[in-house]
Amino acid sequence: MKRFSLWLCVSLFLAPIAALWAFYQEKRITKFGNPLDERTQEWAGATGIFHAEDIRFIRESALHFPSPQWLKQPLEKRGLCLSQAAGMCLRYGIFIHEEADLTDRLIRHELAHTLQYQRHGSIYRFMQQYLFECLFFGYHHAPMELEAEEIAHCKPRPA
Ligand SMILES: [Zn+2]
Repeated sequence: MKRFSLWLCVSLFLAPIAALWAFYQEKRITKFGNPLDERTQEWAGATGIFHAEDIRFIRESALHFPSPQWLKQPLEKRGLCLSQAAGMCLRYGIFIHEEADLTDRLIRHELAHTLQYQRHGSIYRFMQQYLFECLFFGYHHAPMELEAEEIAHCKPRPA
């Protein structure tokens, strides 16, 4: 637990920057992206996501986070590497790497994060928690990541 305070401070420092960036990316992707197919929209609705019809995804070669290396480094060291991500969820805007297979598992994993944004109430509060978990537990052990994987694999109850 010795690094708890350190990572809490770093995540509190990074969260407003990350939230502003995510907000801008969400606006951009929802403007230029594609809607989910009907089956995925139904899955999202049944999983508890509000207004799944407003979600857009975009396929691009990279998602740039305009920050100096000293800001990226602690996250990359803990397994969160933006330049290598197959997908990233910016609430209602979802980035999918152009070379990644657009599988149900990948899109549902990202949509599970949309659900987490919804639960946190704002992009900023999501980022605080998410960054802290990635820094403290490491990306692969972050509870929000583990939960997103779990949700991606579950079949919602039929309505
Ligand atoms: Zn994830």
